[in-house]
Formats: sequence, C-alpha cells, structure tokens
Amino acid sequence: MYLKSIEVQGFKSFATKLHFDFHEGITAIVGPNGSGKSNVADAVRWVLGEQSAKQLRGASMQDVIFAGTENRKPVGFAYVAITFDNSDHVLQTDYSEVTVSRRVYRSGESEYMINKAHCRLKDVNELFYDTGIGKEGYSIIGQGQIEKIINGRPEDRRELFDEAAGIVKFKRRKTEALKELADEEANLERINDIVSELE
Ligand code: ATP
Repeated sequence: MYLKSIEVQGFKSFATKLHFDFHEGITAIVGPNGSGKSNVADAVRWVLGEQSAKQLRGASMQDVIFAGTENRKPVGFAYVAITFDNSDHVLQTDYSEVTVSRRVYRSGESEYMINKAHCRLKDVNELFYDTGIGKEGYSIIGQGQIEKIINGRPEDRRELFDEAAGIVKFKRRKTEALKELADEEANLERINDIVSELE
C-alpha cells in the first residue's frame, strides 16, 4: 500500500483545486518558507480525522478553510481527498484503490467519504487501525514529535507499539464490548427490580 495522490481545494493556502501525484518510493516536497509544504502534511492529517485545531497549527477548525489573500477572495469550504494504492489489501477492503475524503463548510457542516460513499469518522478510523496511517498513527512524524515520544509517558509510548503490533482494533472492540456488557448488566438489574416488585 502506498499514498498515490492527494487532492486539495480550499484547504489552508490551497485556494483552487490542486492534485499531487505520488509514486512508490520517496517523494520530497521542497519550496520556500511559507509556501505550503507543511500544509500538505496537515491536509493528510485532517482528512484522516484530525479534530484538534492545534495539531493543524490553527486556532479553530474553521482555520483550515482558505481565508483569502490580497488578490483572492476567501472560499466557503475546504476539501481534501487522499487515495491509497491498496493492491496488496493492507486496508481490509476489496478495493484495490481507496479514496478517503473530508469536506467542511464555514457553517461547521462536514462530511467524510470512503470511495465516494458517505461514512462516519468512526469508519475512517476503523479503516486505518493498525496500519500506522490513522491520525494517531506513526506515519506522520511532525516537528517535535520524536522528542515528545522519547520524553512521553510509557502509556503513550505503548500506544505506538500497539498500533505497530496491530492490536489497536481488538483493544477498541474489547472496550466497546465491555461497555455494552455493562449496559446490559444495568438493564438486567432494572428488569430484576421490576420483577421483584411484581412478585
Ligand atoms: P516553512 O518552510 O517555513 O515551515 P511551509 O512551506 O511549511 O513553511 P506552511 O506552514 O505549510 O509553509 O504554509 C504557511 C502558509 O499557509 C502561510 O503563508 C499562511 O498564511 C498560509 N495559510 C495557512 N492557513 C491558511 C488559510 N486558512 N487561508 C489562507 N492561507 C493560509
């Protein structure tokens, strides 16, 4: 699996629709300071479900929408789509190419899509669990992150190893199952109370 392309429109400094094609191997993005190199990485983080404006170097989530320049008016929405070559089926879907997209309007309304079908953020997260790609993954190493990992709490470091070992999705499922079990136990207790009141 590898990142095949990124499409951006109205995202940060990219006012108009722009398409980046990548190939297998190493790609470097070079350019002068402030030309938008980090915005490309931010686009990948954002489309993968980043919810923290701070992680995207903004004050609010609306800051990802192109705010206009002297010569260009602001736009009404930000859109990013990333496409992975999945011919090795690392992503557990039958598709040999997977495109994930996210769009957000100034009103705050937003949508996620996987291969052009509407989905929830949860579906995007689940698609990338244990691949290292998700927003919690280690495939994007931002400035200062290595230091954070080295100096971080052992529990936080453990999360990286869990992702690499491929057990994150099982841990999440276990947490969900335990919550459902607790809910059912509470329901059962309520039913038992009603039954004993009726007896
Ligand atoms: P450096 O080499 O200094 O790290 P860079 O090439 O990584 O720079 P970025 O940080 O990606 O550059 O881009 C910064 C530019 O993006 C700034 O000019 C900033 O004004 C612009 N920018 C960020 N958000 C928006 C937005 N919402 N609307 C318009 N422009 C934006």
